[in-house]
Amino acid sequence: RGGKPEREVPFAQPGSLTRVYCVASGKGGVGKSSVTVNLAAAMAADGIKVGVVDADIYGHSVPRMLGTDDARPTQVEDMIMPPSANGVKVISIGMFTPGNAPVVWRGPMLHRALQQFLADVFWGDLDVLLLDLPPGTGDIAISVAQLVPNAEILVVTTPQQAAAEVAERAGSIAVQTHQKIVGVIENMAGLPCPHCDEMVDVFGTGGGERVAEGLTRSTGAHVPVLGSIPIDVRLREGGDDGKPVVLSDPDSPAGAAIRSMAGKL
Ligand code: ADP
Repeated sequence: RGGKPEREVPFAQPGSLTRVYCVASGKGGVGKSSVTVNLAAAMAADGIKVGVVDADIYGHSVPRMLGTDDARPTQVEDMIMPPSANGVKVISIGMFTPGNAPVVWRGPMLHRALQQFLADVFWGDLDVLLLDLPPGTGDIAISVAQLVPNAEILVVTTPQQAAAEVAERAGSIAVQTHQKIVGVIENMAGLPCPHCDEMVDVFGTGGGERVAEGLTRSTGAHVPVLGSIPIDVRLREGGDDGKPVVLSDPDSPAGAAIRSMAGKL
């Protein structure tokens, strides 16, 4: 105790012109981080001033996907200057831990880290801030709702029934926190066969629609499906190489799908 008072979160102030989107999912591995990074890169390419908070504290992967893997924030007076890549400013807990050290924190520490990411990082005048949340309905989702009550939610799911059920649960936390759900993004929606024109529905179909309908019922407000992203090797490669597919191959099936969604936000 006796430390400095916490700085206010600028994005939560009345009159803030920054739209804050939380990218949420029910479980890991559905492409939440890939979607976050590509949405951000697509927006930046359109001249939108955008930042990303990697709030997936235990599974932080945003810096690698954006190509800022080795970048470290710098300190100027008492503010943290975030590195940027592909026109996107980004901050991640991975930038503050040595090597690939695991983060072993409990709720209050996570809340404090998020508070600092939002208030002590010098973001400048952002049009959009995207937060890559950890999967599921955890402490961080509640912290975000407290720190930035006006943050809106994007739900990422695969077309699979089981994935859709958990995604709906993650989204319905918005009912308790009174946050708006902007829409559902269906990822890994079919694999275009490289040998013929057929679509192989690796994870089934319909998950996005099911989540959107369920969340429309539970929130009482219309929740649309913003779009579907097919399985695309180029998206995975772009993530591994730090070159988002929306930039490296904007007209690929996944690149085009994500660019179209970015245009709707
Ligand atoms: P999450 O953030 O939900 O855990 P990631 O974005 O880390 O998921 O994605 C998990 C893995 O799946 C990554 O290796 C990523 O490159 C890959 N991936 C995600 N979406 C697609 C897609 N549409 N096509 C091909 N690979 C994908």
